[in-house]
Amino acid sequence: MYQAITERVGLIPGGVNIGLLRTGPAEVVLVDTGLNDSAAKKALRVVRDELQAEVKGIITTHAHADHFGGNATVVKRTGAPVWAPPFDEAVLRYPLLQPIFLFGGADPLDTMRGRFLLADASPVDHLLTDGEMTFGDLTVEVINLAGHSVNQQGILVDGVFFCADVVFPDAALDKYKVPYLYSLTDHLMALETASKVECATVVPGHGPAEEGINRLVSRNREVIDGAMSALVDLLRDEPDNTDTLCTRLFERLRIVIADDPAYFLMRPTIAAYLNHLVRAGKVRHTIKDGAERWSLA
Ligand SMILES: [Zn+2]
Repeated sequence: MYQAITERVGLIPGGVNIGLLRTGPAEVVLVDTGLNDSAAKKALRVVRDELQAEVKGIITTHAHADHFGGNATVVKRTGAPVWAPPFDEAVLRYPLLQPIFLFGGADPLDTMRGRFLLADASPVDHLLTDGEMTFGDLTVEVINLAGHSVNQQGILVDGVFFCADVVFPDAALDKYKVPYLYSLTDHLMALETASKVECATVVPGHGPAEEGINRLVSRNREVIDGAMSALVDLLRDEPDNTDTLCTRLFERLRIVIADDPAYFLMRPTIAAYLNHLVRAGKVRHTIKDGAERWSLA
């Protein structure tokens, strides 16, 4: 169902929120398209039946399958052009890259080729670059929020901030404890950037829209700080390799990891935390006698 926020901006709430920008009298540009074919079909129905409009473009905030999984269907049915961030756009065109990255660069397990990690390929027509961009009658500000993905972008329009996955809602933080990210160093800068965006309403990629972003930024920072200090504590007890350190962290934070995708989303996330601690001069990574080891610096 369409949820209007301003006259020209609204969303279709769901597992992944789909933003709608009314860029002309009967024209809409989507911000993300959801997980799959059925999310895309639902969005197309809402645009046609509730707004009497047509989809004239797709903005993809970042290259995660749950955000661009509906692109193929929308493009097939409407011919709408796709905008995606530089770098991330490669993953839209070659979606197998995502499970390859998560599986450490190797041919990914078949269990990592499900809908959540491997979307249908999407064409990319234009790059979504920082600064002002115009879609139909509407000018938006594209704000770089790299960190959760290599080059995630947010969209600010009419005081509404589509901030993608720079913040996760309370329910996701309670459930996953340490949400996936590519670079903690970049992500902390993105949180800083996001906290300075002046907006009346924030629409995160997941969870409800709310007034302003600062509450969500503080809650997300708390979770990050907690995980960072837990890692430092664990390494103070004992230096370790990535895998057993992950298992110890899961125990410490009571994170339930029950399948391959959950494990291989978390492992690179922890590696990104550790790399950030290396950059901060707190942790060291060494290889000795063919074994890797993280220790306090
Ligand atoms: Zn994401």
